[in-house]
Amino acid sequence: MDLAGLIEEITADAAHAVDRGKVADYIPSLGGVDPKHFGIAIVTADGTVHKGGDADVSFSIQSVSKVFALTLALGKIGETLWRRVGVEPSGSAFNSVVQLEAEKGIPRNPFINAGAIVVSDVVLGGSEPREAIGDILRFVRFLSGDESVFIDSEVASSEEQTGFRNAALANYMRSFNNMEHDVGGALRVYFHQCAIAMNCTQLALAGRFLMLDGRHPDTGRAVVSAVRARRIMALMLTCGHYDGSGEFAFRVGIPGKSGVGGGILAIVPGKASIAVWSPGLNKRGNSHLGSEALERLAAATNWSVFTP
Ligand code: GLU
Repeated sequence: MDLAGLIEEITADAAHAVDRGKVADYIPSLGGVDPKHFGIAIVTADGTVHKGGDADVSFSIQSVSKVFALTLALGKIGETLWRRVGVEPSGSAFNSVVQLEAEKGIPRNPFINAGAIVVSDVVLGGSEPREAIGDILRFVRFLSGDESVFIDSEVASSEEQTGFRNAALANYMRSFNNMEHDVGGALRVYFHQCAIAMNCTQLALAGRFLMLDGRHPDTGRAVVSAVRARRIMALMLTCGHYDGSGEFAFRVGIPGKSGVGGGILAIVPGKASIAVWSPGLNKRGNSHLGSEALERLAAATNWSVFTP
């Protein structure tokens, strides 16, 4: 299979796409991003990096960060995390408050906002928010092998100033005793992790440990156990695309996590770690061209977790 040729075709077609979706505009710094961007990077198991389009332009990874924060939180408290967060797809919007009432403050999964805020509370532990934020940033830099990954402080402070719904979710969970530390501190951690800025190349590199059954490609050492890596990917497959997760699994067939910045990290176990970015979103809040590119790539390569 000619991966380079395929990337070239996908990138060229994306450049001419008429329907690009709608850029998230709940904060000005995201709304101002040029919808014409399209980038893709694929790291294969042998370490080769293939790139197309704006693969080296940084963007706000937003909810893709939830994969890395979850990995860190599991490292801290292990499987006891699942007493505080469920593992079921939500089928409702990423910031929904409805299910929290029915489920007594236990979020459906770690990738909706409420679940990610509990994860932030775990990463915060007893430390200062800035230490926990530093831990997440260091972890992502370690996974990508790139010290230039950064937190966009303008995005972080806009999220903080406008995140009333997230504050409501956090306080609501606090009322059920599902927040152990300062709610303001956990939210600060959450907003800063969403504001991590990286490009497709860095993001695909950061996903290698999932492709490799939990091992860091440079050291061969376990970042997480194989079982844990598989479970994180199971959650990506079932819950990684908001209430469009079923459709993504159906159309693409590999685990992925998207963010409202238009990025998607997708993993083909044992074969590839893929990052795509195009800021325009479809009606479920997932990158429109990014989802299409992954669907086309998966079909052309026969990459799927269901391929025998
Ligand atoms: N930072 C966003 C928020 O909590 C979430 C981003 C996302 O879903 O990608 O409102």
